[in-house]
Amino acid sequence: MTHRTVIVGAGIAGVSAAAAMRRSGYEGEIDLLGEEPELPYRRPPVSKEIVRGEKTPDEIRIKKAEWYDQQSVNLRTGVTVAAIDPEAHVVRLVDGEEVGYDQLLLATGGRARSPWSASGIRTLRSLADAPQLQGELTPGSRLVVVGAGLIGSEIAASARTMGCDVTLLETAALPLPRLLPPELGELYVDLHKSEGTELHTGVEVEAIEDDGDQTVVRSTDGRTWSAPVVVVAVGMQPNVELAEAAGIEVADGIVVDELGRTSAPDVFAAGDVANQPNGVLGGRHRVEHWQGAQNHGSAVGKAMAGGQEPFVEVPWSWSDQYGHNLQVSGWPEAAHELVVHGSLADRDFIAYLLEDGVVRGAVGIGRPRDIRAAAAWIAAGQRLADVLDGEA
Ligand SMILES: Cc1cc2nc3c(=O)[nH]c(=O)nc-3n(C[C@H](O)[C@H](O)[C@H](O)COP(=O)(O)OP(=O)(O)OC[C@H]3O[C@@H](n4cnc5c(N)ncnc54)[C@H](O)[C@@H]3O)c2cc1C
Repeated sequence: MTHRTVIVGAGIAGVSAAAAMRRSGYEGEIDLLGEEPELPYRRPPVSKEIVRGEKTPDEIRIKKAEWYDQQSVNLRTGVTVAAIDPEAHVVRLVDGEEVGYDQLLLATGGRARSPWSASGIRTLRSLADAPQLQGELTPGSRLVVVGAGLIGSEIAASARTMGCDVTLLETAALPLPRLLPPELGELYVDLHKSEGTELHTGVEVEAIEDDGDQTVVRSTDGRTWSAPVVVVAVGMQPNVELAEAAGIEVADGIVVDELGRTSAPDVFAAGDVANQPNGVLGGRHRVEHWQGAQNHGSAVGKAMAGGQEPFVEVPWSWSDQYGHNLQVSGWPEAAHELVVHGSLADRDFIAYLLEDGVVRGAVGIGRPRDIRAAAAWIAAGQRLADVLDGEA
């Protein structure tokens, strides 16, 4: 009997795993099952070029349609897996169909969190979410964005660039709180301000409600903001329910080892949904970035094809706002000393984040090469003084 792999989730982690399995010489069947009706696509442009109408869905495909046939990957889109049975080695689809497997990969990613419901609320996780919002972002229209993390900040910047009147609300004291240390968060306060986005930080949203043709956001201190459309961008929730219901260990994501193996035999997990060992700092982490999902998917795909190489990676992510390309590497939050090279005022710099002199993170605008170099220092646990001495 032919060996059979089933991959649930046709995002970047699932597609990368299938590609890596074939590159590693896996000759069994691969079923790639994806809930979205779309040919798999790159998600990051959704809050950038797609929402601004600068790219079409066909310009952001992960692979061309013919790739799946060429690689003998049986891609089935618009297919939702309702349950998995690790003991019987079977997945059940919502329509009752059963698909047997020898090994299973859960690459189910996550969904946008939205603790409130009102007709004016929009979230942005998928291509399917984009057309309605794009249609609403007309010049002069009012928009409130709740959450100044990566996606909320990008949507605010995209909307402002399109001529909308934008208010951005954030609970933390500064924007991009999970990515940036305070000194650099300040930079984004100035950037939003200089571009005409109204930013309010320290805002604890209590309720979002419809009021006629407006949607009203109320904070715990009694302030209100209203607009016809309110984008809620307050983080994502990993899609762990299939694993949880099957008794697989879940703790902020599906718990995996360094090869992507879950607590159930022959069941792996990869990408945003996986809580994985942190091979550089120790402990565990769940990474919600494009490159992390792509490389983790590839690494777990190799392991499913018989490889034994543990996955170790320094996280890297980027964000495009108002024409500025921010890049972040490592774990800025693990550090407590900031060394800046370049000019914060000109938005042309690299900032190293140090813990006892050791580089733990790097943040830069317009410095991709420096960020790449810093990622290697972070991986090697090098002291900044030592690498700069070596370069002098
Ligand atoms: C708008 C937006 C902008 C972003 N911008 C950036 C950026 O600039 N830089 C960056 O580094 N990262 C960015 N990210 C994050 C990045 O896109 C994610 O880290 C990455 O997409 C995760 O890939 P994944 O394959 O693990 O999960 P996902 O992309 O979430 O894919 C999982 C897939 O599984 C499917 N699925 C789930 N459950 C089932 C089921 N039961 N049956 C069948 N299919 C199922 C889902 O429908 C989905 O298609 C952005 C994310 C968003 C939403």
